[in-house]
Amino acid sequence: MHYFEIETKAKINLTLDVLYKRQDGYHEVEMIMQSISLCDRVKIKLLPQREIRVFCDMAGVPLNEENTAYKAAKLLMETYKLDAGIEIEITKNIPVAAGLAGGSADAAAVIIGINELFDLKKSTQQLIEFGKIIGADVPFSIIGGTALAKGIGEKLEKLPKLENIGVLLIKPPYFVSTKKVYSRLNVGTIKKRPDTANMIERIKNNDIYGIAEGLCNVLEEVTFKMHPELEGIKRELKEKGALGSLMSGSGPTIYGIFENRRDAEKTAEKLSKFKSMIIITEMQ
Ligand code: ATP
Repeated sequence: MHYFEIETKAKINLTLDVLYKRQDGYHEVEMIMQSISLCDRVKIKLLPQREIRVFCDMAGVPLNEENTAYKAAKLLMETYKLDAGIEIEITKNIPVAAGLAGGSADAAAVIIGINELFDLKKSTQQLIEFGKIIGADVPFSIIGGTALAKGIGEKLEKLPKLENIGVLLIKPPYFVSTKKVYSRLNVGTIKKRPDTANMIERIKNNDIYGIAEGLCNVLEEVTFKMHPELEGIKRELKEKGALGSLMSGSGPTIYGIFENRRDAEKTAEKLSKFKSMIIITEMQ
């Protein structure tokens, strides 16, 4: 096999709670992650000489060692002293710096791809350990589906898969830095936290109305202060038909959930003409 191609999915957070700041500077989180059908396509090719090349069709995505896919390739090539090079071609559909873990998805694709291409036969848990070194959301991107993530995001517990629930994403035309949002979060004064245990029960019961009601992300209060109009987007989504709506990750993407994709499409038609990107997708 000389190349490997994979579709790698974006995620949304159904809940995101920050428990405390750890001594190593990271935040201890508890979050329920859900993959969605919106995906990047990553193609990995073997090169005869030791080097890593990254290509991406979206302007602004770094192509050097700053790229998460590059970092993942370097980590595995160095760890296993792989005597070959890698060319990574990313076709990007997941908006960048949007709270949808696009960079993490690409890194996950490279970790999975190198494991296949070089026939490394590493277990999912070993791949997750590599993922954790690249970024907090990479472990989830490796397994996908519906999962509870703890630690910095690497301690994963699979939950029953939610599928075919419609998701409407609204991505405003600016980026939000995850680092900045976490640095502005004061864990001691968080006003509203998710009831994670209750949400897990609702997921087990496939109770979409209960899930919609339980959506909660403690980072909203920080990002909404930076971009107050996000609160209006969230409200409008609900007024125009979403069962529930929330900011994903550190934002700025706001999403609404619906019984199915068709309902998401109907709401999309009714929305104000935001200068935002609107994407209709579904849980997968
Ligand atoms: P998260 O929710 O994990 O914080 P995000 O969706 O908010 O992620 P990303 O799309 O991963 O954010 O991008 C964050 C930053 O990483 C961007 O500023 C971008 O320049 C950089 N980056 C590095 N590699 C990639 C990649 N493969 N795809 C997208 N962005 C990348």
